[in-house]
Amino acid sequence: MLPESYITTMPKNYTLKQCSDLLQSKQASAVELAQEYLAAIESENASLNAYITLDKERTIAEAKTADARLAQGSANILTGVPIAYKDIFCQQGWRSACSSKMLDTFTAPYTATVVQNLLDAGMVTLGRTNMDEFAMGSTTESSYYGITHNPWQLNHVPGGSSGGSAAAVAARLAPVALGSDTGGSIRQPASHCGITGLKPTYGVVSRFGMVAYASSFDQAGPMAQTAEDCALLMNSMASFDERDSTSIERNKEDYTRDLNQSLQGLKVGLPREFFGEGLDAQVHSSIDSVVEVLKKLGAEIVDITLPHTELSIPAYYVLASAEASTNLSRYDGVRYGHRAAEFDNLDEMYSNTRAEGFGSEVKRRIMIGTYVLSHGYYDAYYLKAQKLRRMVANDFQAALKQCDIILAPVAPTAAPLLDSHNSDPVEMYLSDIYTVSLNLAGLPGISLPAGFTTSGLPVGAQLIGNYFAESRLLGIAHQIQQHSDWHTKTPFVQ
Ligand code: GLN
Repeated sequence: MLPESYITTMPKNYTLKQCSDLLQSKQASAVELAQEYLAAIESENASLNAYITLDKERTIAEAKTADARLAQGSANILTGVPIAYKDIFCQQGWRSACSSKMLDTFTAPYTATVVQNLLDAGMVTLGRTNMDEFAMGSTTESSYYGITHNPWQLNHVPGGSSGGSAAAVAARLAPVALGSDTGGSIRQPASHCGITGLKPTYGVVSRFGMVAYASSFDQAGPMAQTAEDCALLMNSMASFDERDSTSIERNKEDYTRDLNQSLQGLKVGLPREFFGEGLDAQVHSSIDSVVEVLKKLGAEIVDITLPHTELSIPAYYVLASAEASTNLSRYDGVRYGHRAAEFDNLDEMYSNTRAEGFGSEVKRRIMIGTYVLSHGYYDAYYLKAQKLRRMVANDFQAALKQCDIILAPVAPTAAPLLDSHNSDPVEMYLSDIYTVSLNLAGLPGISLPAGFTTSGLPVGAQLIGNYFAESRLLGIAHQIQQHSDWHTKTPFVQ
């Protein structure tokens, strides 16, 4: 018998672009659209747990404001379009818990810059989506608010850590959503749920107001059905922000500018190391199908090498854990968030608070991070990992001299069954092999639907470009989507 899937009455199957067209042509108001999505969420979210926080009154109030702008003629392409936010983004007045007990009682007093940019454009907040606690994980199983199910097959994970956003978009409970990607958390759940997700160049999107996991890696990005929708979101998301010291000051770009650019003569590199042992044959053949589409559109395939790929996992987990242990030291029960009810002295207050507030994966990362940063181990682990980081980044620069973009798998397999990594966290870490090297290098990457396994689970493909190549990546993904239909498939019986 096939595993239970998300079979129900079909919620609205609109892209952002279609929502926008409905609003601009006055076929629907922002309030009507918001109400339709809220009704779909109400009937379908229980089986998925994609959303963990809703506030209908606020959603409708935002939609009314958008309708007023639409009536006045001061609207833009995003005005009135609904969106879901990963629980990692602070949004004033909303519980912003990062799916942790530590922040369960925390209502954000301010709004993340990237969310503010989209609010300023008039987008309407549908709610907040589930994620791995503090974005640490690849399955959305470490959330304090329970697991999220993959809409394609409910006994599989949606991927992670932005699994709630991916599941919401795949199940059409939001036209678009935001995620964050520290080591793959936008691209991998997008792949496992059959949607499109972009991880921009580090520094292009402000991290202000996004809960920090590993600050030298973290980057917010769009998740949507199509590359075109991701481009439309990026136009408002990207901005210089002096409140984020790693934000890059550059001229405003139009991320839609390359959507219709021809792929004739495009050199696409296939990194040998990404197609070796450990890659599932069905994932491999999905990438081959993308190669066929690219060739038909005039692209040329070249063989490239990224020789230090194998070292990217240990380097990433040492560095990300080190940064996490530092970033998460702020949760001490003093200023905000959870505080233990019982303690006899200050030390006990700290330790009881942290023992109660953090889940086991987060504690594991803090311990690894503290260890690799401690006196005597710093040189052996942290410093060495920094050197590996540079080597991985140099590999990409050498490879990108031989090709314009790189095509690769996103994950070694389609979405795993629920609970399959519980006894062995390292197995889960290894599944990040095709995504973390980009974050080590700070490069942009996009994951787009590329087919299905024989059991019906979606498989994604990844395009990687050089720094600031987002619009080119979006353009190539858009061309692939104009000549394939994987991204139009939905997990419902139609
Ligand atoms: N799976 C990786 C980790 O657990 C990446 C997570 C992320 O990108 N937030 O660290």
